[in-house]
Amino acid sequence: MMTFEGLGIDARLIQATTELGYINPTAIQEQAIPVLLSGTKDFIGLAQTGTGKTAAFGLPLLHIIDAAAKYPQALVVCPTRELCLQIVKEIELFKKYMTGVSVVAVYGGASIGLQIRDLKRGVQIIVATPGRLIDLIERKAINLEQIKYVVLDEADEMLNMGFQDDIEFILKNTPQRESTWLFSATMPPEIRKVSKRYMKDPKEVTVGKVNTANKSIDHQYYVTTAHHRYETLKRIIDFNPGIYGIIFTRTKLDAQEISERLTREGYDIDALHGDLTQGQRDKVMGQFREKSLQLLIATDVAARGIDVQGITHVINFELPDDVEIYTHRSGRTGRAGNHGICVSIVHAKEAYKLKQIERINNSQFHKLDIPSGKDVCRKQFFHFMDKLLSTDISHGDYETYVPMLAEKFADISKEEILKRVAAMEFDRFLKYYENSEDLNIRERDRTIKREPSADRNDRSRSRDSDRGDSRKEYKGGGGYSRLFVNLGTKDGFFKASFLQFVLDMSDLKKEVLGRIDMKDMNSWIEIDKGSAQQMIRALDGKKYKGRSIRMNDADSGGRR
Ligand code: AMP
Repeated sequence: MMTFEGLGIDARLIQATTELGYINPTAIQEQAIPVLLSGTKDFIGLAQTGTGKTAAFGLPLLHIIDAAAKYPQALVVCPTRELCLQIVKEIELFKKYMTGVSVVAVYGGASIGLQIRDLKRGVQIIVATPGRLIDLIERKAINLEQIKYVVLDEADEMLNMGFQDDIEFILKNTPQRESTWLFSATMPPEIRKVSKRYMKDPKEVTVGKVNTANKSIDHQYYVTTAHHRYETLKRIIDFNPGIYGIIFTRTKLDAQEISERLTREGYDIDALHGDLTQGQRDKVMGQFREKSLQLLIATDVAARGIDVQGITHVINFELPDDVEIYTHRSGRTGRAGNHGICVSIVHAKEAYKLKQIERINNSQFHKLDIPSGKDVCRKQFFHFMDKLLSTDISHGDYETYVPMLAEKFADISKEEILKRVAAMEFDRFLKYYENSEDLNIRERDRTIKREPSADRNDRSRSRDSDRGDSRKEYKGGGGYSRLFVNLGTKDGFFKASFLQFVLDMSDLKKEVLGRIDMKDMNSWIEIDKGSAQQMIRALDGKKYKGRSIRMNDADSGGRR
């Protein structure tokens, strides 16, 4: 097994890493360190967080810098303040036995004066976030003239956050750069572009699996008219009661107006746009970060560089013209291994844009029906019921009040009480959505055809146009069949998109469906008995992404 000695690392660094419990190098360290120790070779390391990347570049940097020269020689650029501090902390630990080496963290949201003072102390390694670094370059408070080594850590995250121009600016401002080391978890085309422009014949190393796009994001879209855009946005928000999201608009006027309108209508939202002072911006961001604001609406420029964990939805109020902007926006969700949803409200004429994004971004869009008012109310209702059932009543002195409650409610049934509780919560929704219209544009052909659509016959296609004309209640009564199908989450489906897929394929209405149980490779669908054969006929034997779909009745000899 390989050792750190074998990689050629300085004995003082080995002493420190041994104390940290590093016995053998990780895969990325084993492959990167020998290349980086030369100090003159460009390098691309495709590796996720947690693979030991920091030591993979930190140890060679400490090994090759000149401790006697008291000026900045190495610059590490990373997307967030947290990562910046973490990298500095690790480098501090690695350099425990090296004298005369110092490292400084430069990031936004902290005193720039103190950072300028630290820089003047004669540091050799600077670890920085792009925004603050540029600020310092523009103030001429940082000397990058003699930087030899530039590390771009989590390059894909930096691009997702809109830092592409900043990175290019930084690279252009390091005239003595001898080598550039780029680390990234994914390899989208924009990173290829940066590497082609600023790196020479880089050695490329991949650890584990690398995707070109973030596969933990479900890209969904809803088709409506320009006139119904705002209503559609509201439906999407209402249909996702636990939403914690960012809405993107093209103009600051839109951001402001939509924010004001939604606030008036009782939503928890604020806007981020260029007219805010730094203080106002920090206040909005602070509220959003601590989740006292559920929704943030912003223009691309205003949202540049913001990094918030746990975003469930990114909503494009309008599609951006530029694919890169779409990528930046959608990259705000699905971070750190979480699942995220990027929703776009599109006009029927924008199908070509979706295709373009799919092609360049190597991702797939799922078309969803805009939920009906009834769908929204049902969703809200179940959300409320779940909340009610999971409410913690263990602390609080409720027992004291039970006798009084029992007396007060003696003549009212449990059902009646539940109805009243629901009415308190739902009146707003029920009234608002009582006569709500169908916001979908019903088309003859779908705007984006998925692969299996080639198998569909003309008869089923012509029936597509009928789908929206009636939203009648389904009156089936024969009970459910359970269908097995060999498609699952590994095929890129999420529950909503899977549901839409089987309905599109079979031309059935969602009222015929019961529970959907999705696993990695298979799923089980409950469907009204009278419609089961129609769905099997429509799906069984058809192709999805080149693979044959198998569907059968799980309760009559099929898979369970
Ligand atoms: P990173 O990917 O740099 O964030 O590293 C992930 C974690 O792995 C950190 O806690 C490191 O301290 C630890 N680590 C890095 N390299 C090694 C190694 N060779 N042996 C054991 N732990 C390591």
